[in-house]
Amino acid sequence: MTLLALLLAGILLVACTATPAEPAQSEPRRNQLTVDEILALEDDGATRPTVSSTPEGTEPSDGLPTEESLPAETAPPPATPASDSEADLVPSIDEALIFVEPQQVRQGSSFLIAVDSAAAGAASVAFAGEFFSFVREGDRLFTILPIEANATPGPLSFVIAVADRQGRPVLQHEATIEVLPANWIIEVVEIDATNARLLDPEVIAEDLAVRSEVQQSKTPERLWDGFFRTPTAGVITSTFGVQRSYNNATPTDYHTGMDQAGALGELVVAPNDGIVAWVGETERRGRGVIIDHGGGVFTTYWHLSSFRVEPGAPIARGATLGRIGNTGLSTGPHLHWEIVIHGVPVDPLPWIRQAEVPDPLATFNPATAINAPQLPTELTPTDPDPSENEQSQTTSTATTG
Ligand SMILES: [Zn+2]
Repeated sequence: MTLLALLLAGILLVACTATPAEPAQSEPRRNQLTVDEILALEDDGATRPTVSSTPEGTEPSDGLPTEESLPAETAPPPATPASDSEADLVPSIDEALIFVEPQQVRQGSSFLIAVDSAAAGAASVAFAGEFFSFVREGDRLFTILPIEANATPGPLSFVIAVADRQGRPVLQHEATIEVLPANWIIEVVEIDATNARLLDPEVIAEDLAVRSEVQQSKTPERLWDGFFRTPTAGVITSTFGVQRSYNNATPTDYHTGMDQAGALGELVVAPNDGIVAWVGETERRGRGVIIDHGGGVFTTYWHLSSFRVEPGAPIARGATLGRIGNTGLSTGPHLHWEIVIHGVPVDPLPWIRQAEVPDPLATFNPATAINAPQLPTELTPTDPDPSENEQSQTTSTATTG
């Protein structure tokens, strides 16, 4: 067992906690937006940090430390600098800056953790009972983490650990974000003889087993770039997070993706670059395709009439992956698609708005680092953008069933 592994084991002892808060209240939200309407909202969206150019010397294959690979594959720096001037150039891990952006995250959204350091060899975060390795790009290590749609609103803590180029644990920092309630709408689904299979535990288990296994494979580099386009042109007929009440009972389920209308046979395209991770069929979701975009980010497409891709093949943004269908437990031709991060489905809406997709290349003000030296006056490193909440309110003007 390596030292890093020991460190990570130690991190396990630090509990990741969520303070219970008032349950989210549901309120009516408009649930039928055209793609143009969605994309038009981006002008009012949250501001984002400026994007830097891709740093030189990117070593994507070096980004995911494993117990076996980390010490052996990490090249040690020169044991002794050749001269005093070179000694000045050896980066110090003390200068590592850790950023958590944003620090207020809506239920069903995602956030970025970045470690900026030329001296860091690997980083990991203990979050929600699991460990997640960071992707390396230049002098940045980063990961994107999901907040579950029904996560408890309130503070949520996690521990970030950084190892140097020799795999020695050198930095550990606890961070806390605030989970904001999303106020999901509730939809009543009448269960009758024709759709009773929706609640069949065997049907549910088969579908879950396929997806959870595929979405655990981790490509240790980022394949996507920028925001995600919508995979088809049709109207959005159901958004993420809608709480499902079967026959008026307390909601036990929620909508894990976005539905878009479309005619049978209409094209479905990849919203961003990736690798086809799976094609197949489940009883519940019908024919489907899963794309691995790297760094734990996946997109999935369901109820297809057919697919045009094979597992393992690279797929480019805009390339056809299949056609809209009505397979599985579906009441008519439509596309159900999802963005899944480390196995947790998140709201696709921010990812299809250019201003809101988490940007691993963003340049952050060093003063906003969570481990920046504290000044005497109280700092508020990342002011939550009030327009973000206002924006979600603007979509809350009509009731849907
Ligand atoms: Zn759906």
